[in-house]
Amino acid sequence: MAKVIAVANQKGGVGKTTTSVNLAASMSAADRKVLLIDLDPQGNATMGCGVNKNELDLSLLDVMLLEATALEAISQTDHGFDLLGSNADLTAAEVELMKANKREFRLFDVLKPVQDRYDYILIDCPPALNSLTLNALVAAHSVLVPMQCEYYALEGLASLMNTVEQICEHLNPDLKIEGLVRTMFDPRNSLSNDVSRHLIEHFQSKVLRTIIPRNVRLAEAPSHGLPVLLYDRRSRGALAYLGLAGEIIRREVRKTPLVSKQQTMEV
Ligand code: ATP
Ligand code: MG
Repeated sequence: MAKVIAVANQKGGVGKTTTSVNLAASMSAADRKVLLIDLDPQGNATMGCGVNKNELDLSLLDVMLLEATALEAISQTDHGFDLLGSNADLTAAEVELMKANKREFRLFDVLKPVQDRYDYILIDCPPALNSLTLNALVAAHSVLVPMQCEYYALEGLASLMNTVEQICEHLNPDLKIEGLVRTMFDPRNSLSNDVSRHLIEHFQSKVLRTIIPRNVRLAEAPSHGLPVLLYDRRSRGALAYLGLAGEIIRREVRKTPLVSKQQTMEV
């Protein structure tokens, strides 16, 4: 069954979409089967994969409104992973969901039939703690939080952590923090280093070791509709996202019980 990771931070422009698209490509380069879900009406993840958000036959909206199945709306990208794309129409889902029963569980429910097809399902969340993001947190096993190491970065983090705790208590007891990932990092900037130290003091091992540097190739790649790995695979941005994928995959491998060993011990 797929591990579902919500890439979330209600602060805008911190690198959620860049992380979602490039993590999907990097995990797929590591031979994992990946589905990327664009849960943001801005449709940036969709465009960043080279898919025109205004030409989708079926989008996540149709799935959220139960007018199509996830399987029908998923398309293959040219980059090794699958996409469930979105565009501005997705804002209608928010309005419709308000009237629905069990509205926080809609994404969880519609993903069930495709869970077995993938190793990872990544959800690119919008920059808000709205009902779409709540749906992602209910459907997810873990939350990956991209953070820009700047002065206001820690402010929004408290309310995100609060929301995660609430969701754990009431809707999804198994939800974990996958980790905080430092993005657009500039080691020459002393503020970045200070904020980074602060983060580690507060969140310790929740801060992932991989740091994503500020790298112009990462900013250029979406305008070509490509993950950076396919745009410039030797760039520092591409190497960093390969590192991040490796870090997340390795933890999973370590956590997976060694079934054969246990069985041997039981005999
Ligand atoms: P939103 O909250 O609007 O959804 P976001 O959190 O998804 O934004 P991105 O769209 O990934 O953030 O990034 C914001 C901008 O910063 C984009 O123009 C992106 O290309 C650029 N960017 C992201 N990460 C990097 C990086 N490591 N180096 C350079 N530019 C980056
Ligand atoms: Mg985004």
